[in-house]
Amino acid sequence: MAYQKGQEANNPAYPPQQAPPPAYPGPPQQPYPTQTQPYPTQPYPTQPQGGYPPQGQAGPPPVVVQQPTTTTIVTTQVQTFGDNPAVTKCPNCQNTVTSVTGRECGGLVALVAVAICCVMWPCFWIAFLIPALYDVSHTCPVCKYRLGYHRKI
Ligand SMILES: [Zn+2]
Repeated sequence: MAYQKGQEANNPAYPPQQAPPPAYPGPPQQPYPTQTQPYPTQPYPTQPQGGYPPQGQAGPPPVVVQQPTTTTIVTTQVQTFGDNPAVTKCPNCQNTVTSVTGRECGGLVALVAVAICCVMWPCFWIAFLIPALYDVSHTCPVCKYRLGYHRKI
């Protein structure tokens, strides 16, 4: 009887001291990982992924480069008028029309008339009979807007 009581008294005393350690690591490990995960993962990955991919894959940049080239073409479309009627867009009525030409006495007619007058003055009026010496005016047949003027000199 005495040995049994002594063994029972010694054995239960040692194990209780070694047992408590495993109880501490359990509770502190659970709360930390759960709290730290939600904060860094949610806000950071969603914002940068949404903003960067569209800029790298964007096709629009090349389209923007083509726009200035089209504007330069518009500026180069300067209508030049000659002796014959020309098809052009009237800036006043916005219609694409064939200009109506008209002769106007310009500087070349006067210059030739003076030149002829120096050689044989009675024949100076011949200069007014030459259509090629007259300036040509181009007008819109719809609104009579003056589209252009072709000067010989
Ligand atoms: Zn017009």
